[in-house]
Parts: sequence; structure tokens; C-alpha cells
Amino acid sequence: MSTCEMCGREASLVKAKIEGTELELCPNCAKFGEVIARPAPIYTKNIPHSRPVQRPRRKEVLQIVVDDYADRIRTARNKLGLTQEEFSKRLNERASIMQKMEAGQFKPSIDTARKLEKLLKVRLVEQYDEKGDMPVASGHQSKSEGFTMGDFIKDKRKK
Ligand SMILES: [Zn+2]
Repeated sequence: MSTCEMCGREASLVKAKIEGTELELCPNCAKFGEVIARPAPIYTKNIPHSRPVQRPRRKEVLQIVVDDYADRIRTARNKLGLTQEEFSKRLNERASIMQKMEAGQFKPSIDTARKLEKLLKVRLVEQYDEKGDMPVASGHQSKSEGFTMGDFIKDKRKK
């Protein structure tokens, strides 16, 4: 048992990162940070310890509500022949929100925009894939440390 660097309580500690600082914290305080490593349970045998924590690489997609959302919403709603009030009921929003959205004074959240897209059958959300996805040069995966863009370009010229 050691003492938690945050609250001073005695507990079995976990390593956690809070605002970029690594701390030994009790499980309670660790909730406020990013847990780096949990102590291996005592009863288990032959578990490789201190394996680096791998973050699942999530492809980041940027979603943006189009700038002319107001026009698109109004036009599509009119096509459906619904008043703002009727439509706002379908959307489960207040009519005042609908009014503001169609006046361009209130940009819908991505969630709301998605709902609107379904109901109105228009496109309101644009997606941008994460930029900077570099193709991996083959044959360099294993020893790629210190491998720079310059090397990559030189390498390509050789061929
Ligand atoms: Zn604590």
C-alpha cells in the first residue's frame, strides 16, 4: 500500500496521467485522469507486465454542418408541405428552434442535423476524413525509426 498523490489516501495505486503529469493515484482519483497502467493482479501468473498501452487508432472524421443549412432546411420542409410547427413536432424540437434554424440564427448540432437529414432527405452534414494519411513505404516497417520524409523521397527517386 502506498499513498495516493492526489488525496493522500492509502490504496493500491494506478498510474494515471492528469494534465500531462504522471501520478500514482488511488482508483478513485484515477477516474479524473487517463489511466496509463494498472497494477497486475497478484494472483495471475505469467502475465507479461508493463505492456505498452495501445490506443485503438480511431480514424478521425470531421463532421461539419453545411453553411447554407437554413436554406436547405426551409426548402426541403416546404417541399414536404409542412409548417415549421408541424415539422418541429416531427423533429421533437420547439418551433422556435426551427424558426431560428431556418433564419440561419441557430446552427443545428450534428445529431440534430442528422435527424433533419433523415426527415427532410437532404444533406446537411459534410464529412472530412483525417488528413495526412501517408502511405507506408514497403520494406521499411520494421526499422522505421529515424525515417524521415526526406528519406522517403530519396528512396523513391532511387527506384
Ligand atoms: Zn486519491
